[in-house]
Amino acid sequence: MRTEAVHPVEGEQRVLVIDDSKDVHRLLQARLRNEELTLLSAYSGPESLEVATQQRPDVILLDLDMPGMDGFEVMRRLKENAATIHIPIIILSGQQSRQDKVTAFDLGAVDYITKPFDLVELRVRVRSAVRTSMLVQMLAQRAQIDGLTGLYNRAHFDARWSEEVAGCTRHNRPLSLALLDADRFKSINDTYGHPAGDAVLRGIARVLRRECRESDIACRFGGEEFALIMPDTALSSAEVVCERIRATLETLSWPLHPERFVTISIGLAGADGATAASAEAWLEMADRSLYGAKNAGRNRVLVTTVPSRGPRLAQAG
Ligand code: GH3
Ligand code: MG
Ligand code: MG
Repeated sequence: MRTEAVHPVEGEQRVLVIDDSKDVHRLLQARLRNEELTLLSAYSGPESLEVATQQRPDVILLDLDMPGMDGFEVMRRLKENAATIHIPIIILSGQQSRQDKVTAFDLGAVDYITKPFDLVELRVRVRSAVRTSMLVQMLAQRAQIDGLTGLYNRAHFDARWSEEVAGCTRHNRPLSLALLDADRFKSINDTYGHPAGDAVLRGIARVLRRECRESDIACRFGGEEFALIMPDTALSSAEVVCERIRATLETLSWPLHPERFVTISIGLAGADGATAASAEAWLEMADRSLYGAKNAGRNRVLVTTVPSRGPRLAQAG
């Protein structure tokens, strides 16, 4: 799944009905009206793929027998696409054929209803699929979240960082990455105990969340290290954000050890447009900056400009 699409679990669930028969759409609109569902409609295979990719419904009701691209083909395509692979699909079919059922379930359908369908039964089956969908979304969300701090975890960072670097290169957009590492953190654990250390990590996470923008992606990188991805952010603006985080932490007082302040060192690497650097090389630059900040005495931000991509050289014929 595209990692940005940590899908909101709250709110009305959306059901996409894919059927070439207008009557089926009308019937479902009428009978599912009181279900607190938003019904989306598509009347053909190709249209349904577009709607599914763009709208990301929570459940799909899919007719098998459609002219042109049939339901099986639609399902194959939905299951090939990372954006739609997790959407539960209920087959609505005029066919009672055992082979169709086997194929549908093999392709990943969660349920199979034959037409003409019993509306009460349809309703409970949709409800059940919606419930499953919500659980899947919740688990997917949790799998990306660090348990201690509530920030995104390393797995999310890895996937997201590659995407952002690719986007920066493709669209020639600025992008900055900060790596942040608590200073002398081991001594907090050693002096005040592990729970105090944990409280500090949670406190740093709070500051990160508060001081960065909604579009920034704050992650726990591992241990007492954090990463902040700042899309569409040139190095100079990113430096202001990092400096604000550093300065806020420096003066923060900690209930479990009011006498001991906590500082953080930050390595920042950013580019104002497309670069030739890979995601790994860029991360490495931020890491070297962080190492430099530590060596220079900690509690500071060290900035590295990621070299921009030079003009493309004409190919020799
Ligand atoms: P430096 O300024 O060079 O970064 O020194 P440091 O002490 O912060 O760095 P070091 O890498 O020596 O120590 C990191 C410590 O972070 C060691 C480890 O036990 C602790 N740590 C890692 N994860 C957690 C955690 O989840 N909770 C707590 N309380 N401590 C953790
Ligand atoms: Mg460290
Ligand atoms: Mg440290």
